[in-house]
Amino acid sequence: MIVAIDGPAGAGKSTTARAVAAHFGWSYLDTGAMYRAVALTATEQRVLDDDENALSQIAQTLPLHFEENGARLFIGERDVSSEIRTAEIGELTSKISALPRVRAALVELQRRIARENEAFCGGAVLEGRDIQTVVFPDAQVKIFLTANSSTRSSRRLEQWNDAAISPQTSKEQARRDIENRDARDTSRETSPLQAAPDAVTISTDNLSPDEVVAQIAQIVKLKQQTR
Ligand code: C5P
Repeated sequence: MIVAIDGPAGAGKSTTARAVAAHFGWSYLDTGAMYRAVALTATEQRVLDDDENALSQIAQTLPLHFEENGARLFIGERDVSSEIRTAEIGELTSKISALPRVRAALVELQRRIARENEAFCGGAVLEGRDIQTVVFPDAQVKIFLTANSSTRSSRRLEQWNDAAISPQTSKEQARRDIENRDARDTSRETSPLQAAPDAVTISTDNLSPDEVVAQIAQIVKLKQQTR
């Protein structure tokens, strides 16, 4: 069973996808973290954000692996889970993830990891921007999470504060970050952010994380009964 959870920044994808995976004992794959690791490496190697050759080379060769069921990301032996979460890396990630050859390299890796995990534990929950349209267009369950931009920027700010990431950020900056990324992710030519026609859209503005997870668990169970 592949569960694909897409949606804009701050809609609650990570919290939800992780909890759905834990609920069923399945694996969790945060595909945004993989794009972020490419952006972090590009920054450290001073690669320009439009150098598709160099960036796709990084995407193809970066020794990425996840631990703690997707909660921590490593480049080789180095744990980059916090470093990839800053506002600056988020902004650069949204730029470099528009490049087709960077996407092609990571999509292939995502499919491989998810299939291996599915074979190992029976299911995989993936979150990202193109999971239900490009990575797994035949996913059995497709969920598109949304929330208005005020809710999403508050959540993003909370996340940053909790993890002591980008501590100087104001709510206004978080809102701008979210809106810039939405605009770029939605309007790009390759794999723009959009719900698949057969996705269930859940607006999370007035729902607790548990309520969102309960709705998705219900959808998954119905799917399991009809297989
Ligand atoms: O989900 P997260 O905020 O970590 O994603 C960071 C950026 O990575 C997004 O704004 C988007 O540009 C890009 N991304 C993508 N495709 C994915 C996951 C993330 O283009 N599957």
